[in-house]
Amino acid sequence: MGKQTKYIFVTGGVLSGVGKGITAASIGAVLQAKGLTVSIQKCDPYLNVDAGLLNPAEHGECFVTKDGAETDLDLGHYERFLDIELTQKNATLSGRLLRDLIADERAGKFGGKTIQLVPHLTGAIQEAIREASEGSDVHFVEIGGTVGDYEGLSFVEAIREFGRRIGRENALYVHVVYVPYIGTSKEFKSKPAQNALNDLRGFGIVPDVVIVRTDEPAPESIAGKIAMFGGVDESAVLMMPNVDSVFRIPEKIAGSSLMPILDAFTGNQHKPDLSRWTDLVARQQAPKAKHATIGIVAKYLDNEDTYISVLEALKAAAWREDTDLKVQWINAETASEDDFAAVDGLLVPGGFGTRGASGKTAAAAYALEHNKPYLGICLGLQVAVIAAARRAGLEQANSTEFDAETPDDVVYIMDGQQGKESTGGTLRLGNYPAHLAIDSRAYALYGSQDITERHRHRYEVNQKYRDAIERGGLSITGTSPDGKLVEYVEAPTCDYFVATQAHPEFRSRPTRPHPLFTGLIRAAGR
Ligand code: GLN
Repeated sequence: MGKQTKYIFVTGGVLSGVGKGITAASIGAVLQAKGLTVSIQKCDPYLNVDAGLLNPAEHGECFVTKDGAETDLDLGHYERFLDIELTQKNATLSGRLLRDLIADERAGKFGGKTIQLVPHLTGAIQEAIREASEGSDVHFVEIGGTVGDYEGLSFVEAIREFGRRIGRENALYVHVVYVPYIGTSKEFKSKPAQNALNDLRGFGIVPDVVIVRTDEPAPESIAGKIAMFGGVDESAVLMMPNVDSVFRIPEKIAGSSLMPILDAFTGNQHKPDLSRWTDLVARQQAPKAKHATIGIVAKYLDNEDTYISVLEALKAAAWREDTDLKVQWINAETASEDDFAAVDGLLVPGGFGTRGASGKTAAAAYALEHNKPYLGICLGLQVAVIAAARRAGLEQANSTEFDAETPDDVVYIMDGQQGKESTGGTLRLGNYPAHLAIDSRAYALYGSQDITERHRHRYEVNQKYRDAIERGGLSITGTSPDGKLVEYVEAPTCDYFVATQAHPEFRSRPTRPHPLFTGLIRAAGR
């Protein structure tokens, strides 16, 4: 028998979106720094099968794993914090489990039994947790939403049963609550958190640790009240006000009264080596030698979460390059040349659909014309190709995604993708290899000709137009190993103009920025 994996279940109360994911990842980072192997899983109670078709303006970015899972953006936080690569197994949605259960029922696998949420869905959840945890010393399970949400009850029941089954000493329940500050009476109010703890107990779970999120530092008396209502020791309550850098949280946890609890739970007494985090915070906060304003040309401007991995990748590159970064959001629907001229570099991120396409194409054209540093990601490559073809005289060149009738379809739908537009799980997803030209900037940055990046697209460059694209100022510098799909284009006359069909932002890490982002910051920095 292998070693017993320890499980840390992270639930939330009062509000969602107060940092359960960051909390879980930060505790994970501390345990990693003790030498333990850590894995992590997000359970979302939605009836969606994956996050692929969810509106990014509402849910934030769709994060893509190496094996092509389209997931919640929390998986991105986990990958960045823990520097691991996750898979389909780490994203568990009710919709997917129910779909599989019903398929099994139709296939006659239940021998006439009644299929029910308990025990069948709860059983499937527990099996998904067991599978995702295989081989790790500690496995985190974060339950999306808040405890008491109607649709999340099966998950709460599943983790309760799971903890009983594996033995209480192998399960740690962490509940993250929010304590609001009422400005008019100038006090913190712990009542919603107390109610949230009652709710959790009502489902049969007494937490081992309570994390109390507040906007500002709150008095210790709040911790006392919460300890009493939560049925936990005061040492198991951690007050967690907002911090200037989320990368301080691992250090904060390691220096708190939670540490003896985590030591006892894991049976690992090693002092965590947090130099990775302290160095990062020092680098982040040090005065910088250079400055760069990067314009992100995008259509979802009211929710930064929509481009969270791109933002994190830019920040990581800027810290590494000793550069003070300012991000300027440029509305793709109203963008003008003045907007492009005002920034030191342009980035066109991934996107779908016609809205904002002309502004993004204009950004690429401007960068080509004026030698403005440019990084194009996925759609950002496609609009660059359109801009180049138009420069070469094909005035109506377009992607068939934006104009189905274009006479010059320089970007067109990939083989096998016709008719699948707007359907789930059908894009070209996950890791694919590319081969880079030896004289390309991409090769100089990656330091290797054969690379692998994550993908999420349906359209591709039409190589019939290779001549026009080149006349317009772009070279094709990277393709799929068989040469069929264009993966990289660059403008040899520009100081930095690189575009990729892939999503390099998903592989950037706070301490290991991605070379294409480093290249952009270096070129834009002044
Ligand atoms: N809409 C484009 C495609 O499907 C680009 C996708 C993206 O930027 N992720 O190919």
